[in-house]
Amino acid sequence: MPIQTINPYNNKLIQSFDALTESELEHKLAQAHRAYLSWRNEPVSVRAELLHKVSDIMLQRKNELAKLITLEMGKLIAQSESEIEMCASVYQYYADHAAAFLEDKPLEVSDGSAFIRYTPTGIILGVEPWNFPFNQVGRITAPNIVAGNVVMIKHASNVPQCAAMMETIFKEAGAPEGVYTNLFLPGDKIAALAADERVTGLSLTGSEKAGASLAEAAGKNLKKSVLELGGSDAFIILDDADIDLAVEKAVLGRFNNMGQSCTSSKRIIALEAVADEFLDKFKAKIIGLKVGDPLDPDTKIGPMVSEEAAARLAEQVDDTVKAGAKIVTGGKRIDREGAFYDFTILTDIPKGSVAYREELFGPVASFYKVRDIEAAVALANDTGFGLGGSVFSRDTDKAIAVASRIDTGMVFINQNVASRPDLPFGGTKRSGYGRELSQLGIEEFVNKKVIRIA
Ligand code: NDP
Repeated sequence: MPIQTINPYNNKLIQSFDALTESELEHKLAQAHRAYLSWRNEPVSVRAELLHKVSDIMLQRKNELAKLITLEMGKLIAQSESEIEMCASVYQYYADHAAAFLEDKPLEVSDGSAFIRYTPTGIILGVEPWNFPFNQVGRITAPNIVAGNVVMIKHASNVPQCAAMMETIFKEAGAPEGVYTNLFLPGDKIAALAADERVTGLSLTGSEKAGASLAEAAGKNLKKSVLELGGSDAFIILDDADIDLAVEKAVLGRFNNMGQSCTSSKRIIALEAVADEFLDKFKAKIIGLKVGDPLDPDTKIGPMVSEEAAARLAEQVDDTVKAGAKIVTGGKRIDREGAFYDFTILTDIPKGSVAYREELFGPVASFYKVRDIEAAVALANDTGFGLGGSVFSRDTDKAIAVASRIDTGMVFINQNVASRPDLPFGGTKRSGYGRELSQLGIEEFVNKKVIRIA
């Protein structure tokens, strides 16, 4: 993919960037490694201070950064601003909690004593996606930098200005050269970096194909990897749910970020008793919304990330309809310039059809009506993905019982899945492995060294 900004609102090319040459890449690797050798010796308090400054700068420059997101990938401006706030809160969170997370952990042993000491390992390579161009970077950068690692970020090729901006913010915050490095590189150059002995861990958020390629390279070189891949989260509505609440959260869960989130509520599964009421109210909330410029605060439906993404989604919906599904609303591109696709609800989706099997990475809700809880759980688990899910019920114990039967890394009760710094984030099955955020996130790429005293 060429490294360039194309505004998806009008498909105009704004700016192109050159990929690094081999010698430029080597220079950056050497610089990052040198930085690691001194950064690992800094006290946690100094490393945390850097994160505090990064967080402050992001908040001071919130409007400018949010506009960059909107320009490069089309997110509605209010949502871009929220992303900057969320990302700043991730840096803040690790700045505040790192010292406690990284404290020596005593071990119970039958004689003498022993403890675990958390030590950094080296350069962590993060391969990041365009859908949350700042926040995704924060999630890998904050825990690692405060733990004494250094990071190199290969960002998605369609958000180069956001990528470069994050490096600028670290410089402004006073990060020593090499603690945070932006790499302008195409995806297919990444596997080779896994072989470099200075790189000690690899993390990727994105598609299964890219994840498998990174994991293969990591495996061949015996490096630790973390993968956050796609999802097809079930949003289950039991017959005693607060329907208005479920509708509100389903609109947010499915259509926020134009449906382009790994944890979007992609499959809505309602029990028969409440399905029609839910569907009527859900549809009413998403028709007649203002379509337009994502920079206009009144716009409710903006563009998707790119022309290719909108065309691919249209193809997936068309194939599903050909297989027998019905369109309740939407189901087509919006007839105007830019990467627009209408908010859509599909019903009567046949088992095995495209929408049943694949992730729909855009504003399309797949709606299923089921007989009972058994059928809801079976349908929720009939997917290769295992990222998140939601259960709506007024009976918390019943909802927890259902949640515990769903094969995913996260289930939210009476809420759409929403990432926050203090909750571990990650999946099972084809959604990847490892965890970001919380204490678990900082533990992924540190050495848990045992020190034994006889
Ligand atoms: P990709 O997986 O292609 O892109 C994500 C990141 O991986 C980008 O930085 C990309 O770089 C990089 N990459 C691509 N190929 C390789 C490779 N072989 N080795 C290492 N890195 C690679 O996602 P797309 O943007 O193409 O989106 C396609 C699908 O991926 C979506 O429909 C969705 O299903 C899933 N996805 C999931 C996300 C999530 O949040 N979990 C986020 C984004 C996408 P480059 O841009 O240079 O190709």
